[in-house]
Amino acid sequence: MCANSKVPQTAPTGELAEEIEAFRQFLRDRGYRVTKEREAIAESILRNRDHFDVDELFLSLRNKTPISKASIYRAIPLLIESGLLAEVYLENGHMHYERVYGREHHSHLRCLKCHSIFEFSAPELPSLEKRICKQENFKSEGHKFEIWGLCSVCQSLKN
Ligand SMILES: [Zn+2]
Ligand SMILES: [Zn+2]
Repeated sequence: MCANSKVPQTAPTGELAEEIEAFRQFLRDRGYRVTKEREAIAESILRNRDHFDVDELFLSLRNKTPISKASIYRAIPLLIESGLLAEVYLENGHMHYERVYGREHHSHLRCLKCHSIFEFSAPELPSLEKRICKQENFKSEGHKFEIWGLCSVCQSLKN
């Protein structure tokens, strides 16, 4: 019989390893302490390759690496500040996040019924952003474009 059922976490490789290294660098640059705990929490959050809110994240981690919600709430602003995570959209008062490091800028379609998220890129958005900023003499730090409504599956369902 197996006395210890704990599954060892595999060491991060590839993109995830790069993200953890970027996070370490960010902590050092800011004079924050690089602790094993901070790294482990960042890693658990960044393993999530989806759009998620804190509750979803907490539930998905509960069986693997138990992390308190408070730790997640503390880690998220650091991950945002370091450019690894971004706020994507607000749904029922819950902010949803996604990893952004090394990813191309994209926008979202959000289904109000099944809560699916679809990503898309529109080449005309950056030039539109540029034009509006020029017109308004505004210095942009980014933009968000979101369309919400019904996805094709939900449109075809009755009620
Ligand atoms: Zn839908
Ligand atoms: Zn996205």
